[in-house]
Amino acid sequence: VMGYFEQRCQASRRLAEQAKAVIPGGVQHNLSFNYPFALAFSTADGAHLRDVDGNRYIDFLQAGGPTLLGSNYAPVRQKVHELIDECGPVTGLLHEYEVKLAELVCRHMPAVEMLRLLGSGTEAVMGAVRLARTYTGHKWIIKVGGAYHGWSDQLVYGMRLPKTGRMEATGIPGGATAYTQECLPNDLDELRRKLRWNRLRGGTAAVLVEPLGPESGTRPVHRDYNAQVRRLCDEFGALLVFDEVVTGFRVGLGGAQAFFGVRPDITVLGKCLTGGYPMAGAIGGRREVMMSLVGGLGTTSRRAFVGGTLSANPLSCVAGYHAIVEMERTQAAQKAGRAGDRLRAGLDEIIQRRRLPYVTYNMGSIVHLQTSGVLLMDTSSLWKLFRAKDEAKRRKHMMEEMGAAYTAHGLITLAGSRIYTSLADTDDVIDDALNRFDDV
Ligand code: PMP
Repeated sequence: VMGYFEQRCQASRRLAEQAKAVIPGGVQHNLSFNYPFALAFSTADGAHLRDVDGNRYIDFLQAGGPTLLGSNYAPVRQKVHELIDECGPVTGLLHEYEVKLAELVCRHMPAVEMLRLLGSGTEAVMGAVRLARTYTGHKWIIKVGGAYHGWSDQLVYGMRLPKTGRMEATGIPGGATAYTQECLPNDLDELRRKLRWNRLRGGTAAVLVEPLGPESGTRPVHRDYNAQVRRLCDEFGALLVFDEVVTGFRVGLGGAQAFFGVRPDITVLGKCLTGGYPMAGAIGGRREVMMSLVGGLGTTSRRAFVGGTLSANPLSCVAGYHAIVEMERTQAAQKAGRAGDRLRAGLDEIIQRRRLPYVTYNMGSIVHLQTSGVLLMDTSSLWKLFRAKDEAKRRKHMMEEMGAAYTAHGLITLAGSRIYTSLADTDDVIDDALNRFDDV
C-alpha cells in the first residue's frame, strides 16, 4: 500500500506538502483522508475520479452525498453554464429559478409547503431551530445522540474524544448548549421523560431527527421510530424537524419522510438539493410555521431572522432545479439504490467468505460498512469503549491503514465506512469495485 503512494502519487505528495503550509492539517474537511498524505484530484466524471498523477478511482464518496446523478453530470453542468453566461452567479435579487426550485421541492414533498434557501446544511439546521423556537415560543431542543446536524455551537454536542472523554469540539461555552438535550436512538421512554420535564420549564421547541438514525443510519432506528416521535411531538406541542440533508432526494424524491410515511413540521434539506453545486441548504415546512420567517403576516408577529448574502443565488437554484428534473427523468434514486443493494450483497458475500468481523447494510444508495464489528448506538460513551490508550491508538491506525488500502486499490469512500452510490454506478462499476474490496 505504501509503495503505491510512493511510486504513483508524487504530484499529489508535492501538492499535499504545499497545502500543509497554508491550510490547517492540509485539508479543508475533517473527513478527507490524509494518510499517508492527501491525494489531489483533477477530474471527476460519473462514477470515476482521476488524481493529479493520472490514477483512476471509483468514487464512492460522491462529494459526501450530493451528486446522486454522478459527478459532474453534463446536462446540469450545461444549464449552469447557460445561466452564468446570462446573469453570472448572483445578483442578490429574485430570480425565476428560485421560484421554480421551490415549486418543484414542494411538489415532491407534501410536508414542504414553502421553502427558504440557505447556504449549507449547518445553516439550515440553525434556521430550523430558530424557526421552531419562534413559532412555538418554547426553548428546549432535543436531538438524538450521535446525530450530526452540522457544526453549529448548539448542536455539535456529545462528540467525545476516544482517549480522554473530553468534548471533541471545543470553543463552545456551556451556555451555548444549555438548552440542547440528547436521547439515545430508539429510546422513546427517555424522549417522553425529557419532553415531560421540559413542559414545566419552558417547553420543547423541536425534536430533531435524522430519519434513518444518527449519521445517515450509522446508528439505525426502528422502522416505526419516526412515527412514534411524531406522536410524542404532537402530545407535547414540539415541532418535529427531519434533517434530510443526506436523505432528501437520495432515498427518493419524496425523501425519507415519504418512505416512512411521517409528516414532519420542518424539513431540512441540503446536499442533493443543488445537485452538488455550492450553497446547498434549505428549510421547508408548514406554511403557518414558515411564515414565522416573515413575522406579522402569519399567526405570530415574532420573526425568526435567517439569511445571508448568497442564500438564494440563481446558480445553485438552476443547478438544483435541473438536477431534480434529471432525477425524475432518470429515476436516479431507484437506480443508485439498486447499485447500493448490489454492492451491499457483494460485500456481504466477501465478509462471510473471508469470515471478517464486519457489518454491512444499506438503505438504497447509502451503504454502511462497519469494520469495528459493533454497532455503536451511543457516541457519547464511545470513549468508554476506547478507554485503553493503546486500543484507541490501534483503532485509529487501523482506520488510517484501511483508508489508505482502499485508496491504493482505487476506491474512494467516506471515511472507509460509508459509501454513496450514484446513477453512474452500472453493474460493471459495482463488479469492478467488489473485486477491489475483495483484494483489500
Ligand atoms: N445534517 C446532516 C444529516 C448532515 O449529514 C450534514 C453534513 N454531512 C449536515 C447536516 C451539515 O450540512 P453541511 O455540511 O452542508 O453544513
